[in-house]
Amino acid sequence: RIFVIGSFVVACSVKVARLPRAGESLNADAFVAEPGGKGFNLALAAHRLGATIDGVFRIGNDPFAAVAVSAFEGAGLATDMLLTRTGSTGAGIGFVDQAGENCLAVSLGANRQLAAEDVEPARVGDCDLVMATFESPDAPIAAAFAAARARGVRTLLNPSPSRPIAPRVLADTSILIVNRVEAVDLGIDIADESTVHRLMRAGPEIVVVTLGEDGALAFSRSEPPRRQAAVPVTAVDTIGAGDAFSAGFAVSLLQGRPITESLARAAACGAVTAARFGAFDAFPTAADLECFFKA
Ligand code: ADP
Repeated sequence: RIFVIGSFVVACSVKVARLPRAGESLNADAFVAEPGGKGFNLALAAHRLGATIDGVFRIGNDPFAAVAVSAFEGAGLATDMLLTRTGSTGAGIGFVDQAGENCLAVSLGANRQLAAEDVEPARVGDCDLVMATFESPDAPIAAAFAAARARGVRTLLNPSPSRPIAPRVLADTSILIVNRVEAVDLGIDIADESTVHRLMRAGPEIVVVTLGEDGALAFSRSEPPRRQAAVPVTAVDTIGAGDAFSAGFAVSLLQGRPITESLARAAACGAVTAARFGAFDAFPTAADLECFFKA
């Protein structure tokens, strides 16, 4: 069972021949509104892989709140994880041109109001892992991680979008998963292992740096560094690949698999997601993953 410090965003995008200029109105070819948000993606990806999910998400009382409810229902996630408050549900607007180039802006809205009080320590204690991203404020993450640490529950942090990690959060982090940009922001130089060990002394036992189509690198206290190649696929849309990777790694570790095998499964989850459009329908199921490793 995994507890997710959640974030939910309705990701709206329009397909256009070219990105608009300032002041310009364009006709778009298509409009898509997809449920997303890094916390939601982690929850959904882990659920598809067979994990039982608990967690907390804040949504507003606007029309997009109904999108959240139907997304949770449609995905088979419990709607009692959704806390409704006055205000706006997280929403983003993006443009995607014919070459796949895109620009995007997200308003986190109600996600910014997620509070330490929203996290019930007893529910955290009933789980085997807590996962959080930086689409949530520090206070609920710190509260959940402290509750987890006190109860011997492991924690996974994906500090994206990048911001500095509060020392108490880092101290209570068991597994840290970062992409290239976040790694640099945390002072990690992948060519210099000592920069990772310095970070590990402040908390995490395992640090994974994902490198897009170059795969991932894993560092741990107990084993030498491991390099995991990416699974070669024709990437059509890498949105959600990082979330799928993190969820795949977490679920595999919880199944008792070693780090090396968990990295391979995480890379498969990332690759499958990159090879499919969108995120909601792109995350692999446990059955997809088994086929992948049998083939
Ligand atoms: P983020 O999306 O968080 O920036 P990355 O781009 O590093 O993270 O991708 C996360 C993981 O997803 C990678 O380590 C890799 O395993 C997988 N992945 C991402 N892009 C591709 C791709 N084009 N082909 C194959 N695997 C990919």
